[in-house]
Amino acid sequence: MTPAEVLETLVSIPSPSAQEAAIADWITAFLQDHGVAARRSGNNLWFEVRGGGRALPGHRVGEHEGRAPTSASLRAGSCASSCSVGRRGSEATGRSPLVHDRSGGPRLLLNSHLDTVPPCKGWESDPFQPQWRAERLYGLGSNDAKGCVAAMLCAAMALAEAGPFSGTAVFAFTAEEETGGQGISTILELLGPLDAALVGEPTNLQACGAQRGMLVLKCVAHGRSAHVAHANLADNAIHKAARDISKLAAMSFPGHPLLGATRAQVTQASGGLARNQVPDACEFFVDLRTTPNLDHQALVKELASHLESEVLIHSARYLPKATAVDQPILKAALKANGNKGPVGSHTTSDWAFLGDIPTVKIGPGDTHRSHQPNEYLTRSELDAGMSCYLNLILAYFEEAAKAPQDSAEACHAR
Ligand SMILES: [Zn+2]
Repeated sequence: MTPAEVLETLVSIPSPSAQEAAIADWITAFLQDHGVAARRSGNNLWFEVRGGGRALPGHRVGEHEGRAPTSASLRAGSCASSCSVGRRGSEATGRSPLVHDRSGGPRLLLNSHLDTVPPCKGWESDPFQPQWRAERLYGLGSNDAKGCVAAMLCAAMALAEAGPFSGTAVFAFTAEEETGGQGISTILELLGPLDAALVGEPTNLQACGAQRGMLVLKCVAHGRSAHVAHANLADNAIHKAARDISKLAAMSFPGHPLLGATRAQVTQASGGLARNQVPDACEFFVDLRTTPNLDHQALVKELASHLESEVLIHSARYLPKATAVDQPILKAALKANGNKGPVGSHTTSDWAFLGDIPTVKIGPGDTHRSHQPNEYLTRSELDAGMSCYLNLILAYFEEAAKAPQDSAEACHAR
């Protein structure tokens, strides 16, 4: 299958959050056809492509018909690489699938999500029926993020015949990214040690080296109720909340070089029971899209010290992220994408759940087409995405091989 055919198939399988079983089944079967046994946990699936020339019995991806085309800039392939995957891998090596060793070299995670948001109003065609119009494939999820999944899947197939490379690429296609549910965070420990990661989201193939976090606070202004006619005996909670809301709107926070400033946005407010009663409570939500130079806990403390209202954390787990420019993964991304970046990404993603793993967010498509009617991806964007991922993986293993030497030299120089 070509990358375009893979994407078309993925788009034709509806996969709103928590309903990814069918699309995960199709990918599992696709991999099986190519001799690769994926592991599953819920609607998440993952597999490895390992370099180093240890071919596993019965498996040579390049022998199969209809394989994904390889990138023009691929290394001359010797087909000596192998896929070391889940149960099949463990049977071949006699090891438990949960035991990961480091003999496969540096381990790079490639992750993207299988789920989509529900279709919104305004579609001019059936969102679940992929439709080509000129070079654009229209359909729900074509851009966010099935294009990334298709490009990664085809890059995995091509990688397996790209010739020896020293490293292991771990591919994970996960569920419930759009709702922050049973996705990457539930399988991260099962993937084994990871030295770096790529998160596939539409970035126009720009390398995102920083991503905003999200801190949502629920603030409650407390007061004392009374008849409006006796307001002198009352303490108006809405007035108190209004003072805090004005303060929040005027607040500024230290900016970040790739992401700019953080602003506090009050997004919902409610209070009062009756038109003629001074309200004794008013609650409002504050949404802060944070930058990596802001610590969520410290920020909550600081805000609480400035506000009259009680400040409660509603959600703080989407942490802001940044990857240093000297990290091999960022160097490799810039090498593979023609030096586009690093840029900052204002939307959150599963990167938020990857802990301290040096990560780059990158993928074909445009974030402005996501969560919109008439979402599409072009054929050339998809092909460029697949080539970029493949070259990026190979460039990463080269950079990672250099990195210990660099640091040894740096130590020596001191
Ligand atoms: Zn997405």
